[in-house]
Amino acid sequence: AGEAAVAERVVEELRAACATPAARLNEVAAAMEEEMRAGLREEGGSKIKMIISYVDNLPTGNEEGFFYALDLGGTNFRVLRVQLAGKDKRVAKRESKEVSIPPHLMSGNAAELFSFIASALAKFVTDEGHNNVFDDKQRELGFTFSFPVRQSSIASGTLIKWTKAFSIDDAVGEDVVAELQTAMGKQGVDMRVAALINDTVGTLAAGRYNDEDVVIGVILGTGSNAAYVEEASAIPKLEGELPKSGNMVINTEWGNFDSSCLPVTEYDQALDEESLNPGEQIFEKLISGLYLGDIVRRVLLKIALQTPLFGNVSQTKLKTRFILRTPDISAMRHDETPDLSVVAEKLAENLKIRDTSLETRKMVVEICDIVTRRSARLAAAGIVGILRKIGRAVPGDERRSVVAVDGGLFEHYAAFRECLEGTLVELLGEEAAKSVAVKLTKDGSGLGAALIAAAHSQ
Ligand code: ADP
Ligand code: MG
Repeated sequence: AGEAAVAERVVEELRAACATPAARLNEVAAAMEEEMRAGLREEGGSKIKMIISYVDNLPTGNEEGFFYALDLGGTNFRVLRVQLAGKDKRVAKRESKEVSIPPHLMSGNAAELFSFIASALAKFVTDEGHNNVFDDKQRELGFTFSFPVRQSSIASGTLIKWTKAFSIDDAVGEDVVAELQTAMGKQGVDMRVAALINDTVGTLAAGRYNDEDVVIGVILGTGSNAAYVEEASAIPKLEGELPKSGNMVINTEWGNFDSSCLPVTEYDQALDEESLNPGEQIFEKLISGLYLGDIVRRVLLKIALQTPLFGNVSQTKLKTRFILRTPDISAMRHDETPDLSVVAEKLAENLKIRDTSLETRKMVVEICDIVTRRSARLAAAGIVGILRKIGRAVPGDERRSVVAVDGGLFEHYAAFRECLEGTLVELLGEEAAKSVAVKLTKDGSGLGAALIAAAHSQ
């Protein structure tokens, strides 16, 4: 009983440290809005970069032709080809291929990585026999590169820093489009990179292609980010002539948001300190799929060090970072079996923890739930921050506002999704929430890039 009490205290402290009552979330939303304004005012004005995407036109549905896309920055690298056939027929044809990036290329050098990407594209083009189906027109490609980039036009941008599992020093500060274009040339791929975008911007574009009320794109997958449509006149740091459309898509890079109102625990601090990018991407580290599993692992480790509930720690894998993954958290959280056999299986399979009591397994589910709810609720607060920034779903606004969301965390984790949606209603109020819809928008990072390439085609 003493052991259970010790463990329960750890869980109790976790629950308190992860608490996100509405008042707290409203502070988070307000801080997010404030940081967004600061980031729009001047370059470096905020931890949130508020990157000008140079996408001033989103697809309308009228686009026609064959377009390619590359998607780099997620778990898998993707090559895609679409045939757009105008308003009625829309995406007439879509072919894609997924290739996993060998881990050693994620921390090697830029030339190797881009060469790998270009050769995958070359192979895709050859395999599909696309060479024959084209007229003389040069093919155009949208490049989704889901890392923070400083753009100077729709088709150029220098890498600010890597995030997630990538860390290739010699690419930082370089123009990723030039690197890709060079690598493509070496592989004999004759294509023009027509647009450099972020997966978040792509999700916004793909969402808009299907629903003209989409104003925000959000990624909740390995990482987390958001993009939205801003009024160009509300971007003091935007130089030169305002775009004709009057709009500009902003890639917020909200993953780097940080604020004293965020519920950060000792586990988050340790995770951050041991990460590839300490002190950075704090919001992302509280929210996204890359991290949730490891936060839970750290809580379990603390309990294992204080109690015998998980057996001898040295015989488990509890000290192995990232051994517990977010899909495992999702599976355990959704375990409906009376004896929590899925939890038992996941603990055994991943952590080599065996012979737990039902009570202990219930506690594991509870820990998964606490970490998940905090994540989903913070993501909702971020969305509310953006809605408020653009005067949407606020008193007097009658417009429908749709949030396009992509990413495995949102797509595959029902409890996460339901919590996010419920929290939006809680924060916006029943009435205002009726005009807001959250829509799963798959493959925005692939299709979206092709659509933007089409919208900016020469
Ligand atoms: P990426 O973000 O890498 O482009 P995805 O959008 O497919 O790729 O998201 C993958 C991420 O989604 C994984 O890293 C994982 O954290 C999360 N994920 C995948 N499946 C699940 C699941 N069943 N439950 C919870 N999270 C999941
Ligand atoms: Mg992705």
